[in-house]
Amino acid sequence: MSNLLANLNTEQLQAVSLPPQHALILAGAGSGKTRVLTTRIAWLIQSGQVDPAGVLAVTFTNKAAKEMLARLSAMLPVNTRGMWIGTFHGLANRLLRTHHRDAGLPQLFQILDSGDQLAAIKRLLKSLNVDDEKFPPRELQHFINGQKEAGHRPHAVEAWDDYTRQRVQLYQEYEAQCQRESVVDFAELLLRSYELLERNEPLRRHYQRRFRHILVDEFQDTNRLQYRWLKLFADEGREGGAAMFCVGDDDQSIYRFRGAEVGNMRDFEREFGVHNVIRLEQNYRSHSNILDAANAIIRHNSNRLGKNLWTDQGAGEPIRVFEAFSDGDEARWIVEEIQSLVRDGALRSEVALLYRSNAQSRVLEHQLFSAGIPYRVYGGLRFFERQEIKHALAYLRLIANPDDDTSFARVVNFPARGIGARTLEVLGDAARTYGTSLYATVPHLSGKPGTVLGQFVRLAEDMRRDTAGLPLPELVDHVLDISGLRAHYKADKEGRERLENLDELINATANFLAETGDAEALAQPHALLADFLAHASLEAGDHQADQGADAVQLMTVHSAKGLEFNAVFLSGLEEGLFPHENSILETDGLEEERRLMYVAVTRARERLYLSFAQSRMLHGQTRYNLRSRFLEEIPAELTKWLTPPSPRAAQGGATGGVGGGYFKPSAASSSQARAPRPTAVALPNGLRIGQAVSHAKFGQGVIVAAEGSGTDAKLQINFGPAGVKWLLLAVAKLEPL
Ligand code: ATP
Ligand code: MG
Repeated sequence: MSNLLANLNTEQLQAVSLPPQHALILAGAGSGKTRVLTTRIAWLIQSGQVDPAGVLAVTFTNKAAKEMLARLSAMLPVNTRGMWIGTFHGLANRLLRTHHRDAGLPQLFQILDSGDQLAAIKRLLKSLNVDDEKFPPRELQHFINGQKEAGHRPHAVEAWDDYTRQRVQLYQEYEAQCQRESVVDFAELLLRSYELLERNEPLRRHYQRRFRHILVDEFQDTNRLQYRWLKLFADEGREGGAAMFCVGDDDQSIYRFRGAEVGNMRDFEREFGVHNVIRLEQNYRSHSNILDAANAIIRHNSNRLGKNLWTDQGAGEPIRVFEAFSDGDEARWIVEEIQSLVRDGALRSEVALLYRSNAQSRVLEHQLFSAGIPYRVYGGLRFFERQEIKHALAYLRLIANPDDDTSFARVVNFPARGIGARTLEVLGDAARTYGTSLYATVPHLSGKPGTVLGQFVRLAEDMRRDTAGLPLPELVDHVLDISGLRAHYKADKEGRERLENLDELINATANFLAETGDAEALAQPHALLADFLAHASLEAGDHQADQGADAVQLMTVHSAKGLEFNAVFLSGLEEGLFPHENSILETDGLEEERRLMYVAVTRARERLYLSFAQSRMLHGQTRYNLRSRFLEEIPAELTKWLTPPSPRAAQGGATGGVGGGYFKPSAASSSQARAPRPTAVALPNGLRIGQAVSHAKFGQGVIVAAEGSGTDAKLQINFGPAGVKWLLLAVAKLEPL
């Protein structure tokens, strides 16, 4: 038994072996919170204090849940199946499937991911003839999810004005539609399972008795409803209820925009009368150059609970900083560095490329692809979100549940079958009249709509009949053929990659079976199909092609939470990008961005590379940004600039120059192919690139480029909030500052 505890420091040991009482472990990045939580589960089981079935553990991502299970299996010679380990959504799904009748759901209910939910809302507005300019679908989606996360059903929403009252009405209609179609969105998973237990006392008692230990990782990012959900399982902290063991770090709270509340930590302490608050201060992850940088950055935030992190690992490599001419340039540099790391023996899977926004991944992917470096993208355009995969899943969903109107609408005319908008309108009207799903309404129709739609329904029915009893991969294979999807993409010149993705879907079912391996489930292919579809909705993003290969990892900083890598590249460190422009103006927003930066930096064990570009294509436009203020917050002695550091324009009033690297020899030598570069011009009046200037109309700005000569000479100037402009030098009346 002692070997489990052998490699822990004193505080960790204390946390792992606490008696069954509520506890809060509050500690910085890399201090072993997740390790403590996992070890505690193993220790409780190994020392006979709890049965595996008595453990409920919540993690933040599917990836984290998988890792935890793998580690537990390695530590313990017991079957981990009885344990409930997963994400909030995954566990809520499990609960609702088990008690679907009590929850008022058919067993094979489908899960709507956020894109499906938006489509369902659009469809709803259309069917009700609601003006979507007045009620923008995305906004309505946000409203509905917000209400659900606050635990409010339509009748419980306080509406003081007409507009809100109308939105509540739409919320109610939306709920009715979901119920009719047997579909459940993400927020509903949580709320529905919460209400199920709240309402059903015997069931609640059953789970309250069953779970003796509830353990929560990344507790700082739970929202109100998730916290209430936990409290219900823990019998509100009463004697005899489960012991709650929560670990978290207020400096890593990065989901406030989604309703997460650090306040839950304080409430937990108070409401559960937590006496055990344990702090871990030794960081085991990073060398001290990296850790010191992280500490220095986060120190700029106010309202922190306050922590001290230290490491005995030594300074390690300096943090490398690179200023690129363009985003393409930056990506090429990153790829060159990766190649050199790999030449030196690094594993590609130990290298992560992190970025603030998904849109940044494309140019990185492009360079990696061109260099032939295998990579995986987490999040972003996920496998399960690709068009062809969604079409295929829609057919599969119709097999599992014909009343799923979202899926029906998605594929009824895909591939094209001559079913027009008018026909679908007739169908939609009839469905409302009969109060049935689209599928079930078809037999009521006559005339041409009845005929063409009847053919589609027959197709779906053939599909269900012909695939009954087939193993899942064969079932999917069959559906791809009968539906016409394969033929459709074969005929498409650009369809090769999509066909490969469809084949990858078959591989995904095979992997899924291998992981499930439950004999009972195998006997019921259609129930298994529903499980697979739930898995697809929940895991979108975790499942990328070429799993298991040694590949570089690409992801947003948000999805990197809790993970660690030997080498981390953080690109796009520019004002407006990171910190993100939407957050710069509010203190809260800026502090959240800084926490995100703290998360990013603390993912690295040995090497950290920070980079930014003078110009970047984003959303179809070239943008010129100043380098991020977060770079300035890192003490100079921890960094090594690979390009000569250029003075940085101060916020608001430009005092130095931005970049100034356009004509620098270092930028010119770092790569060959690059974006068209402005030709150097002789600038009069002591103007130069990087010079701060003032303009009567646009205010203060910085010269970023120049072009042409004589009377044609033009300057490109970044005026900050007023935008980036090209001005004719002869008439611009610029004042050097
Ligand atoms: P984060 O806040 O980023 O989620 P964390 O606090 O959960 O970090 P862990 O991921 O649990 O930290 O641990 C960080 C690294 O340190 C892991 O590689 C872990 O195995 C290692 N580690 C933790 N404690 C010890 C220890 N006592 N001895 C050696 N290594 C340790
Ligand atoms: Mg962790």
